[in-house]
Amino acid sequence: MKLTVLGYYGGYPYQNTGTSGYLLQANGFNLLLDCGSGVLMELEDVLDPLRLDAVLLSHYHADHVADVGVLQYYWQLHSERYQHEILPIYGHVFDQAAFDGLDWPAATEKRAYDPEIVNQIGPFEIKFLRTEHPVPAFAMRIKERDTGKVLVYTADSKVFPALTKFAHDADQLIADTNFFANQPGEIWHMTTTQVGEMALKAHVHSLLISHLPQTADRNRLLKETTVASHNQLPVQLPHAGMVINI
Ligand SMILES: [Zn+2]
Ligand SMILES: [Zn+2]
Repeated sequence: MKLTVLGYYGGYPYQNTGTSGYLLQANGFNLLLDCGSGVLMELEDVLDPLRLDAVLLSHYHADHVADVGVLQYYWQLHSERYQHEILPIYGHVFDQAAFDGLDWPAATEKRAYDPEIVNQIGPFEIKFLRTEHPVPAFAMRIKERDTGKVLVYTADSKVFPALTKFAHDADQLIADTNFFANQPGEIWHMTTTQVGEMALKAHVHSLLISHLPQTADRNRLLKETTVASHNQLPVQLPHAGMVINI
């Protein structure tokens, strides 16, 4: 499967780079994973948005769903091309109003994923794990059926033990790395050190740190994470348009 980074900041977009959004492609199926601020603009450079087959949302914080509304308009305004096509948007049902908003007439349709089972979306088998975050949010373990390759996306979360188990042996981990190691106080995202240690313990094969703070020294984020992982696995910083073949 092919992963393209469309946005990677936490909270708000900054200097032409958006918040969370990733395009995941396999067997001709195009899945948009989260749809944050600026993601539609970036997607337009990579893929005709009408070629999306599904959207999958980790949770309803604005930095993960801000562009859902404009994506719905995009589909609505191109109805002459896809009169019979509706874009499915998968979300959780633990915030009914937000879930209902995934419907848009003649454009998109809400679909619920079930965190208790393995969900089949296109060529992917997807498991979910509820994270520790101020609102219901779900990490995802996405397996490409044909190749057995696994992408784990932590979505937004503070560190907690079950996340390590959930990420076990993933070919690629995308981890919420919003803070430096020395971040004080209670936090709802992970630090560089927590992410590096988790990736090491989980034996993931490759790590992409994401959901980054806007003005931080990127190289320090990378270095702290790499040191915490004992240099045992490749750790990468994201950039818009970055492609990772998994
Ligand atoms: Zn977020
Ligand atoms: Zn969040």
